[in-house]
Amino acid sequence: MGGIKGLISNGSPHCGAWSGQLIMREITFQSLTRRSEIGANCYVLDTGMARIALDSGMHPKEKAFDAIPDFSLLEDGDLDAIVVSHSHLDHVGSLPVMMRRHQKAPAYMSPVTCDFADALLHNSVNVMSSQREQDGIKEYPLFTHRELDGLTRRFLTRRPGQPFDIADTGVKAEFFDAGHLPGSVGMMLDIDGLKVFYTGDVHFEDQTVSRGAEFPTEHADVLIMECTRGAVERAPGYSRQAESDRLADVITRTMARGGSVLIPVFAIGKTQEILMMLHELKGQGKVKADIPVHIGGLSSKMTQIVDKHSNEGRRHHPGFRLLESMTGIVKSKKGERVTRCQAGRIYAVSSGMMSEYTVSNDLAHHFINQPKNSLCFVGYADPDSPAGAILASLPGAPVKLSNAHPPVELNCEVARFDFSGHAPRHDLVEYARKLNPRKILLVHGDGPALDWMAATLSLALPECEVIIPLPGEKINLG
Ligand SMILES: [Zn+2]
Ligand SMILES: [Zn+2]
Repeated sequence: MGGIKGLISNGSPHCGAWSGQLIMREITFQSLTRRSEIGANCYVLDTGMARIALDSGMHPKEKAFDAIPDFSLLEDGDLDAIVVSHSHLDHVGSLPVMMRRHQKAPAYMSPVTCDFADALLHNSVNVMSSQREQDGIKEYPLFTHRELDGLTRRFLTRRPGQPFDIADTGVKAEFFDAGHLPGSVGMMLDIDGLKVFYTGDVHFEDQTVSRGAEFPTEHADVLIMECTRGAVERAPGYSRQAESDRLADVITRTMARGGSVLIPVFAIGKTQEILMMLHELKGQGKVKADIPVHIGGLSSKMTQIVDKHSNEGRRHHPGFRLLESMTGIVKSKKGERVTRCQAGRIYAVSSGMMSEYTVSNDLAHHFINQPKNSLCFVGYADPDSPAGAILASLPGAPVKLSNAHPPVELNCEVARFDFSGHAPRHDLVEYARKLNPRKILLVHGDGPALDWMAATLSLALPECEVIIPLPGEKINLG
């Protein structure tokens, strides 16, 4: 990691001057993450009068208390409010634990995020209960269905373009469409005139369902920015259309040789993007219209939520309801556990990284050893996940997919596509230039990504202080 990290950690209170006024108290930022990475995202803004948390995630790979933010950095009951950017597990997964510790804090989020989070967190109780049984993790589940039903009454929904006051904190907020997945937002917070913008996860380009972010471009004093793709230069000549045409080619040749196609996807966001892409490809005649597309139980539930909100906000195909209007969708029946693929079908099933105990992992055990099949990766794959292991394997090599089963030979076709829901790094730099903040705090990135962003932004905005916050470190925003 670079030398720019932790440049300021000045804990002494002093006058901060911003937007033409002097304020005699300190406003600080503190990351509750356990490491500088993409994991259990959670940040606290302390205005000197009130404390507001931004997101409360769960690490997808870690277990038990190591998977949640370091809540011991706050006194129980200290938080006044929580604001949630979107419904991915790494932003919302530990919200019930945080809300239990801070009984008076409401959680603000968009209406779509509210529905997604409710479904995701209930599913998370089931996943943790399985892990308790199978892996002996005695702390699981970290919360129960019953507790969740009580906590969701403190979820308060706000829409982009509807400025609101955050509880009694004196802080004004406004959501802006972040283009990352349905319901995702960035947020502008006005703390006594200090303008702080938090991007959450953002994509500025159109996807198949979501339109690119509509973020503010007026000056902000502080920018808290995600850096997911900071270490990756996008392939020259990239176009989303060319990528989806390449996916159509893989599907067509797999069907011609009597195989099936497995597309591991996150249940929220990526499933609906891929379904809409397949619908478009079928409409364009690039994929045969009668090929069935199989989706799993959680993906069906999440797709229902996107369909329920199909007339709201900015999106492509407004009013189009995937589950009713798309041809060839096959849903798993309630409680059905699909472990074998049928020839001639596309399986768009979770999880995206093929984690153990998920449908995509179950299917892979009898799938990747068959040369007629194709496995298509369309999103992020952590190197330590089963998906990462497959991507790092040579054809014919055995791949360990789970602890419970022997390794499986990789004989199927493997293809990888760039349908990322995160902004390419140059778009992030361009956005930072527009806001022209005095301070930038870089979050949500692995070491090399944070380092590239810090070095590039320091050159692009020489007047700006670029900071990679250390876990637990209090940073003065004034
Ligand atoms: Zn996300
Ligand atoms: Zn994220």
